[in-house]
Amino acid sequence: MNAVSTDAALASPERLRLTEIFLSLQGEARSIGWPTVFVRLTGCPLRCQYCDTAYAFHGGQWWDFDAILAEVARHGARHVCVTGGEPLAQKRCIALLSRLCDAGYEVSLETSGAIDIAEVDPRVSRVLDIKTPDSKEAHRNLWSNLPLLTAHDQVKLVICSREDYDWAKDVVAQHRLTDVCDVLFSPSFTQIKPSDLADWIVADRLPVRFQLQLHKLLWNDEPGR
Ligand code: SF4
Repeated sequence: MNAVSTDAALASPERLRLTEIFLSLQGEARSIGWPTVFVRLTGCPLRCQYCDTAYAFHGGQWWDFDAILAEVARHGARHVCVTGGEPLAQKRCIALLSRLCDAGYEVSLETSGAIDIAEVDPRVSRVLDIKTPDSKEAHRNLWSNLPLLTAHDQVKLVICSREDYDWAKDVVAQHRLTDVCDVLFSPSFTQIKPSDLADWIVADRLPVRFQLQLHKLLWNDEPGR
């Protein structure tokens, strides 16, 4: 990443603390496989037991919006994914998302589901997590987010056990989520066999999308890939 933490960035109201900006392939959700610029914001108030981006909890550097836009443009991809950490933990993230949409990018946001999404620009495709009991952060789910979802959004549940799967199935049915948007079930990488989750979904004819994270298969989850 090209560091552009400057005195000007520190003074600007249009600035965010970032861990990295990099070009890769989108590893999950609807735009899987597209070359995508990832803008990873620093910080997260949650501590999911399977978190694979703990390196983004602390540190980072201040970037002003113009520098972020310039760095995104330098990579030359049509898709931009704003992620974290929990990007919405920094309030100015909302304004950055709109700036990226104004610049003509296909913008997605990966969010924990613990912070209000009401102010997010409707042009953004929101990929909203619902935390399962075995994530150890289910008490952080902000259920008032669910009625805000549209067909442009997606819901993601990381499944750590058969108990998580049964819980997730109930939540999806109770909130009729598959009537609203795509619902993605992912296996927690080291905790259940992906084929077990696939078998459960098929046996139940569950109208959800199974997904494996492409970047883990390709690059073993190296930071910046
Ligand atoms: S919300 Fe995401 S970044 Fe935060 S602890 Fe959970 S998995 Fe990690």
